[in-house]
This record gives sequence, structure tokens and C-alpha cells, in this order.
Amino acid sequence: ETKKEGKNAARFFRPVMNSAAQTRLRLETRLREAVTCQGLTLHYQPQVDVSSGRLVGLEALARWTDPELGVVSPGEFIPLAEDTGLIVQLGAWVLDEACRQAAEWALRVPMAVNISPAQIVRPEFVETVSDTLERHKVAPHLLKLELTERLHIRDPQQAAHRLGCLRALGVTLSLDDFGAGQSAVASLMNLPLQEVKLDRTLLAGVTHDPASWQVLKALLALARGLSLPVVVEGVETPQQLDILRYLGCETVQGYMTGRPEQPTTLAERLWPSSAGHIRPSA
Ligand code: C2E
Ligand code: MG
Ligand code: MG
Ligand code: MG
Repeated sequence: ETKKEGKNAARFFRPVMNSAAQTRLRLETRLREAVTCQGLTLHYQPQVDVSSGRLVGLEALARWTDPELGVVSPGEFIPLAEDTGLIVQLGAWVLDEACRQAAEWALRVPMAVNISPAQIVRPEFVETVSDTLERHKVAPHLLKLELTERLHIRDPQQAAHRLGCLRALGVTLSLDDFGAGQSAVASLMNLPLQEVKLDRTLLAGVTHDPASWQVLKALLALARGLSLPVVVEGVETPQQLDILRYLGCETVQGYMTGRPEQPTTLAERLWPSSAGHIRPSA
């Protein structure tokens, strides 16, 4: 396996190297095809007002079922798309399709779309967003862009500038996954945000672990102190919902209040009288 073996090394090397690299390459090839040939779909998950139970928003989530590979989770293909640059094209499609759907539904609550740092740093991103809104005649305040903190960490000044341009368009900016991994409180202060989404890992222990409860409570207080509306993600049980209500949290998103669903399934459930395609009352 060392260089000393010279030419013969290839024989031993290749099959070993290939398995991992080849799997990845195959995934990348299939993903590239899915992105260019309309092979992706979107599911939508409700965001719900805790006190009234009303729908206050939807999050668009990318889905991929490959004919050969089967279902591949976003946790797998989004990072791959980010590493390979495919995220720019993928993200533009997601934005377009989510806006098209919002227009078809005549949605009156915001449609939230996840945006990767690699999309935002592209010089044409602001124009892509404004073109997409225009194409589908969606009002800017009905589009919410969910950003991750990785954006801020790489180039804080450029990030703040770009987000300022997006704000000027009138879209809403939300900081996703707050409280997961290395959260920088600085990004809450330095970026022009209108919302923060608390990561679902923060909820894991709240029903039995006093420390988890305190952390959640403190983060809710922090957001309140900064006048930032909060969405808590990953609410799965009635107990968790009770705690959030008690702590004064206003908006939740989780399996408890609605899983991500196909557009037709979701529309039938949310707006049963409209057969899924007539103006919803929400
Ligand atoms: P995210 O933006 O934080 O989206 C929320 C994730 O939590 C979704 O996972 C959703 O299905 C899941 N979730 C919601 N409620 C619950 C719950 O009660 N319990 C549990 N266990 N999970 C819940 P999903 O759809 O697998 O997506 C994972 C991540 O992939 C997303 O996290 C987002 O960061 C990324 N992603 C998905 N679609 C896109 C996209 O179109 N563009 C970009 N850039 N990223 C995307
Ligand atoms: Mg999100
Ligand atoms: Mg996210
Ligand atoms: Mg999140």
C-alpha cells in the first residue's frame, strides 16, 4: 500500500479507494441529474401559533427520491450540494417552486425557504430573489429566508451587507438552528434579522431536565429582549407544547402540530373545502 510498491500499488489501491469515493461520486452524479431534470420535490411544514392553533407560516423542505438510490435525506444531499456548488441551482429551484406554490395557494402567511451561505455570497442572489418574487407575483413580506449562522462566521461584513440588500427588498430574514452547535450570539446583534428559530435539540430535555429548561427559558428571554419573534422547532409532544406555552413562546413548528407533507396532502388537511387549490382562508 505504500509508494515503494510502485506500479503494482495501483492494483491494491484502487478497489479500496473506490468504494467511498465512488459512492459519493454516484450520489453527486444522481443529484446533478435530479437538480437539472426536475427530480426534486418540496414538502411543506406548518408553523403554528401556540395560543390560537392558527397557521402562521409554512416551511418548504427539499425532498429527493432517486429512481436508483431511493429516498435520500436532506441531511445527506444538502451538504453534498453545498460542497459541489450544486446548491446554487438547487436553491434557485427551491425558491422558485416555493414561490410558485405560495402563489397557487394564494397564501396569506409567509413561505419560509432555507438558504445556504453559498447562495447568499453569490453577487446575483438579491436579483434572483426579486426576479422570483416578481415572476410569481408574490409580495416580498410573504417570503421568509431561513439563514444559518455559518454565513455570519465566514465573512461578517459581507453577510451583513447582503442581508441588508435583501431586507431592502422587503423579505423577512430568519436565523435558523439557533442554539445548535456553536451559536454566536453576535449574529443576533449584527445581522438584520426579524426572527430566530430555536433548534430542536434545545427541546430534547425540557420535560425532565432542569438545566435544559433554564437554557430554553434564557434563549427565549434573549430573543424577547432583542424584540425578535421566535419559532421553536421540533415540538413533538403535548408536554413540550405546554412548557412552551408556559414560557410564553408564540410560534412552534414540529411533528406535534404538523409534519412536513406533500402539497396536495397538506392543502386537503388545511383547507379541506378548497380541494387543495382554491384560495385558502389562512
Ligand atoms: P431545518 O431548516 O432546520 O428544517 C427543519 C428540519 O426538522 C426538517 O428536517 C424537518 O423535517 C425536521 N423536523 C420538523 N419538526 C420535527 C420534529 O418534531 N421532530 C423531528 N425529529 N424533526 C422535525 P429535514 O426536512 O430532514 O431537513 C433537514 C435540514 O436540511 C433542514 O433543517 C435544512 O437545514 C436543510 N434543508 C432542507 N431543505 C432545504 C433546502 O431547500 N435548501 C437548503 N439550503 N437546506 C435545506
Ligand atoms: Mg429551516
Ligand atoms: Mg436550516
Ligand atoms: Mg432548523
